[in-house]
Amino acid sequence: MNDLRELYQEVILDHSRQPRNFREESAASRKAEGYNPLCGDRVTVFLKLDGDVVKEATFQGSGCAISTASASLMTEALKGKTLDEARAIFHKFHDLITGGQSDSDLGPALGKLEAFSGVNQYPARAKCATLAWHTVNAALENAKAPVTTE
Ligand code: ZN
Repeated sequence: MNDLRELYQEVILDHSRQPRNFREESAASRKAEGYNPLCGDRVTVFLKLDGDVVKEATFQGSGCAISTASASLMTEALKGKTLDEARAIFHKFHDLITGGQSDSDLGPALGKLEAFSGVNQYPARAKCATLAWHTVNAALENAKAPVTTE
C-alpha cells in the first residue's frame, strides 16, 4: 500500500510541476472559469469539441499542486472521449474523491486519476481536486457564470 501511495504522490508531483496541456486553446468551442476560494485555486478550461467528442482539452490558471495536477490529468483523461464518457469519468472521479462508495469494476477506468484516491481523507483538498472537473462540467453545460466551489 505504501508503494502505491508513493507512486500516486509521484504522479501528482509530476503533473503539478509539469502540467500537461497547459495553454489556451484559441479554437476552443467551450470555455469556463473556476475558482476555489478556500485555497485560492483558479482554473480556466478550454474544450474543442467535434460533434460530441472532445478533440482538445487544455487549461490555464494558478493554484496548489493538487488543483494543478488534477487539471493536468483531467485534460489527458478527456481527450478523445465522448461527452457521455467524460461525464461518466467525472462521476466516478467525484465518488473517489468524496469517499463515496463506488464499485471500481463498474464504469470507466480512472487510470492515473486513481492517484487522487488519498484525497478523500482531506475534505478541504477535495475541492482542489474537483475544481477543474466542476469547471469542465460548466463548460459542457455552457454555463455563463464562473464556477466556484463554495
Ligand atoms: Zn488548492
